[in-house]
Order: sequence, then structure tokens, then C-alpha cells
Amino acid sequence: MNDFPVLKVASNTTTNNDTRPVASTWNVAVIGGGISGLVVAYWLAKAGARVTVYEASDQLGGLGTFFQYRNVSLERFYHCMLPSDKHLLGLLHELDLTDEIYWKETSFGFMHNGKLYGLNTPLELLKFSPLSWIDRIRVGLTGLWGRICSSKGLDDVTCVEWLSRLSGNRAFEAFWKPMLQAKFGDRYHKVPALWFWTRFNREKGGKRECKGYIHGGYRRIIEALVKSIEAHGGSIRLQAPVGKLDFAENARLVVHETQGKSEAYDRVVVTAPISFLHKAMMDGELAKTAALIDTDIDMQGVINAVFMLHRGFTKHYWVAAIDEEIPFQGIVESTTLLDKTDTAGVHLIYLMNYVHRTDPLFYQSDEEILKAYTAGLKRLFPDFQDDDVIDRFVFRAPFVEPLYTIGYQQRKPPTILLTGKLYLATTAQVYPDVTSWNGTIGLARKVVDEMLNEEF
Ligand SMILES: Cc1cc2nc3c(=O)[nH]c(=O)nc-3n(C[C@H](O)[C@H](O)[C@H](O)COP(=O)(O)OP(=O)(O)OC[C@H]3O[C@@H](n4cnc5c(N)ncnc54)[C@H](O)[C@@H]3O)c2cc1C
Repeated sequence: MNDFPVLKVASNTTTNNDTRPVASTWNVAVIGGGISGLVVAYWLAKAGARVTVYEASDQLGGLGTFFQYRNVSLERFYHCMLPSDKHLLGLLHELDLTDEIYWKETSFGFMHNGKLYGLNTPLELLKFSPLSWIDRIRVGLTGLWGRICSSKGLDDVTCVEWLSRLSGNRAFEAFWKPMLQAKFGDRYHKVPALWFWTRFNREKGGKRECKGYIHGGYRRIIEALVKSIEAHGGSIRLQAPVGKLDFAENARLVVHETQGKSEAYDRVVVTAPISFLHKAMMDGELAKTAALIDTDIDMQGVINAVFMLHRGFTKHYWVAAIDEEIPFQGIVESTTLLDKTDTAGVHLIYLMNYVHRTDPLFYQSDEEILKAYTAGLKRLFPDFQDDDVIDRFVFRAPFVEPLYTIGYQQRKPPTILLTGKLYLATTAQVYPDVTSWNGTIGLARKVVDEMLNEEF
């Protein structure tokens, strides 16, 4: 039963009921079977194109992919939706999944020196004793200003400058800096204020914090897309990593799988992480096109441990746990949102640690990670016992979000790399939108519209 039955698809929601066979002569390759690749393939197949999706791994869904646990499918990396996710909600409406979404009021907590503080209302902020009175007020005013100020110019100012100016240096050091470091490590000082502004307004945009999930998990969305792609004549190749893109003799593009198979296409849409393009186009005839893309765009990675527990430990969906002694930076207690039927009856928490793929931590064994994270949980919650744990899993992803620098909007790669031939719809272009399924689907819509509206 929905706690928030008010949520309807907004009138400006992105939907495409246009099934004219605009693209009926096109043979299109989509590289990457994450949400971007699947949505691009779905809309192009609906527009009449013959679509083939190449996915490197043995599973679709990319960062939103899932694993089987008992009788349910759980995301490897925690996922939820927000009422402001108009592109995602529009897609779910189009896929006839709207009635499967449920919403709950959620909250945010901040763990400091072993004490958990709720930070959701002005009163809770006033009680946040790790900051002085004046700093609490300045942080509150920063939040208020963040909601009403324009985003103009914020891409050219760092979060450090902007937040220090608004909240003061002390509050920046004690409150904002650890949260930025938790996400971007030692590159936090380069991140533009626009990143913070869009994220803050997405999370705290409504009167009450409210998050949504879908009965049966994100697997439902992936399966609905696959079904529709196949029903429109598209095909999906798993374990089909693409190694190289090049021109064929007839000016079509050739997709070379690393296992040696090659095929020519009229159009190619790349949705794999940006580093793929550098490698795939570096030494062929497409090298000049590759030069359009800033090779300095690097991506942050993540390690996620999923703990299935007999009991929950906080009432908050997300708790920032920022402490040098703790090997992760946050806890997502999914059970505060997910129905018990979606978690096989267990309490589910995700412990997240954003780590670059070159950091030795990224290559720690699962056992080492689980041992360290269990010790971290015991430090945060002294009554946490080994017996509380039913199961534990570790997942890693090397390419999650760009390590932004100021002026990123200018550096963002273009969506059309070669008119009428080669297109890009990848996470590195979602900015200033928040990297999310919503932002990705919005980008995919833009790219598909650009393709369908090109005139020759
Ligand atoms: C910890 C975590 C929590 C998150 N929480 C949320 C959330 O709550 N809500 C939300 O909306 N979003 C969330 N996100 C973000 C969201 O998952 C991503 O923004 C989104 O999934 C990106 O989709 P994508 O298709 O662009 O990229 P990806 O999901 O990265 O997909 C790219 C695909 O390309 C494939 N690929 C790579 N190289 C090749 C190759 N050479 N050939 C063929 N295929 C290739 C990959 O295997 C992958 O399947 C979260 C992400 C993480 C990591």
C-alpha cells in the first residue's frame, strides 16, 4: 500500500508514444547494457530501428543490476527513486509499472563520535551539538539559501569556496568537508558547487523526505525493457565486450567484440563508461573523433558491502558515518524503505565506501573487507553482535561517477560524436543532473531525440 498515493506522473514527464517507424532502415548497435543502453535500445526499437545491445558482463542493468537472495532480487548497489525523478517515473508509466511503485517517508542521520543525530528538521539541526550554535545556524541558512539561490555561476566555483563562504570555515571543516571527502576522496576540493546544489535540491526538494521503490526490485524495470526491446525485434548479446570501433569500407561503423567477432552498423550509441571510448577509438580511423573527448575525465569507484541482519540499527535510510576509524563512510538501511516482502524478511543494510580503482583498498579480498566492515559496525553500534548477521556480500564497481572539476559543463563530452553515425549517452554527461537512473534516462531521451530528428 502506498504511503504517498499523491504521486502522479507530471505533465512534463518524458514519455514517448510516438511509434512512427522513423528509424526503420537503421541497423543500430548499442554498447553497454546498463539503464542507459537499455532505454536507448528500447526507444530506438520502438521507433523502428533494428537494435543490437552489446553487454560486456553476463547480466544487464549495469550499476543497477541485481543478485538473487533467497526468493527475492536485491540490487548490488542500493537504489531508490525520488518523487522528482520525472524521467524515471515517466518511463515506468510507459512500461505500465507505475502501480508497482511504493513510497515512504525517509530520513537522514549523521554519526559523530559514536552518537547518532537525526538531521532532517530545523529543530534537529539546532540540537546538532558537534557544531557550535552559530555554526548550526550558518549550516541551516546554507541549506535555505541552497534551495532558493540560482545555480548560475556555480559550475565555476568549488564546493569548498562556496560552502566555506556560506557556512564558515569551521562548519565546512567539521560538517561539509567529511561528506565531500567521503564521496570524492582527495579530489573533493576540485568539485564544483553546482554538483552540490543539484544533489541537495534533488534530495531535499520536497517538504518531507520521501523515497520510492518498486515491488520486486529494479530487476522488474530491466526485465520490462528487455521484453519490449525483444518484442520490437531487438536483440541482446551478453558477455559480448566490445574492444574497438572503426570505419568499415562503406563508411558504416564496425563494432569489434574482443572475442574477435565484428559487425557493421549504420549507427552506434556508446553507453559504456567514458574510458571505453578512449581505448576503443584511439588507434583507428576514429582517433580524430576520440580527440573531441576530454581524456582527463576520471571516474570514482565504489565498494558496497550488503549485510542481511536479524534486526535493524537505525531508523534512517541513510546515515553518514564519518570517522577515520570506520572503513566505510555511510550506511544505507534499506529496510526503512523496502517492504519485508522485497527483502525476504531480513533487515538489509548497505555499507558504502567510495574508492578509486587505483587505490589498493579496491583490491582487498572480500574476507578482508567484511572483517573490517564488521569491526566498523561494532564500533558504531557497541551492541552489534556476530549473531546479528545472517549473510554478507561484497560488490565493487570501478566507474561510478566522474571526479568533477570546475567548469565541468564545458568539458562534458558531446552527445553527437559523428552526425548520423556515432552517439554517446554515458554517465560522464549527466552532470549537472545527479548521476542516477533518472538523470541517465533524461540523457538517453535527449540522445534518441537528437538521432530521430537529424535531417539528411
Ligand atoms: C552505490 C551506488 C548507489 C546508487 N544509488 C542510486 C539510487 O539510489 N538511485 C538512482 O537512481 N541511481 C543510483 N545510482 C546511480 C545509477 O546506478 C547510475 O547512475 C546508472 O545505473 C548509470 O547507468 P548507465 O547505464 O549510464 O551506466 P552503467 O550502469 O555503468 O552501465 C554501463 C554498462 O556498460 C557495460 N560495458 C562496459 N564496458 C563495455 C564494453 N567494452 N562492451 C560492452 N559493454 C560494456 C557495463 O558492463 C555496464 O553494464 C547508484 C550507483 C551506485 C554505484
